[in-house]
Amino acid sequence: MKKLAAGNWKMNGSLEVLAELAKLEIRHKESTVNVLICPPAIYIQTALSLFSSISIGAQDCHMYQSGAYTGNISAEMLADLGVNYVLVGHSERRIDHTETDSMVLQKALAAQTAGIKPIICIGETLNQRESGQTLNVIEKQMNGSLHKDLTSYPFVIAYEPVWAIGTGHVPSSQQIAEVHNFCRNYLEHNFHEIAANTPLLYGGSVKGSNAKKIFAIPNVDGALVGAASLKVDDFSSIIEALEKS
Ligand code: PEP
Repeated sequence: MKKLAAGNWKMNGSLEVLAELAKLEIRHKESTVNVLICPPAIYIQTALSLFSSISIGAQDCHMYQSGAYTGNISAEMLADLGVNYVLVGHSERRIDHTETDSMVLQKALAAQTAGIKPIICIGETLNQRESGQTLNVIEKQMNGSLHKDLTSYPFVIAYEPVWAIGTGHVPSSQQIAEVHNFCRNYLEHNFHEIAANTPLLYGGSVKGSNAKKIFAIPNVDGALVGAASLKVDDFSSIIEALEKS
């Protein structure tokens, strides 16, 4: 399975930042890992014209193909542009847009139907971790947002503890390993041979300075990176750590 370094710009960046990030194309031209940037939707088309070896993804899609859903973008429309990954169920969407596990599943299935790989995000809050609920929460989210129909097309899982996103707090290697092993076992049990080909990303305050340690953890196949994916040198050092892992 090829490892994946994915950048989630959230509602950040600009055309200028995009042009600057295009330097990654030269630095990682022959990369042994997949590199992905998910800019705000409005920049996707420009990004596609600037990047060739780096994939361009979206941060969300609607669960339906078309219709009266003002302000939304369907997976078909993303596929029309040439997008090949989409984040679904990022904790900011689950929290700010009250997205449920079943909505996340519908979006993942819509993405696959359009020929796009969904990156399904899961993760516990600080409260849930401190009350010893982490693995129960992860299992519940996987039960709700994964389905046997997903097996018809590749997908990716991103474990992002909510309390680690944008905070500078990173779980210990043991904590990350526990969840990633749990996810791999869950996939093996429910999705059989698909499990070995489904990348498990870690996300939450990944930086050049901690990437090597994170990528040394068993069952970590890459990262979903927020803030550090907006700066060429920062993202490049994460990609390099993944290439060497
Ligand atoms: C994210 O947005 O998914 C994320 C992990 O952000 P950060 O790397 O900034 O914590």
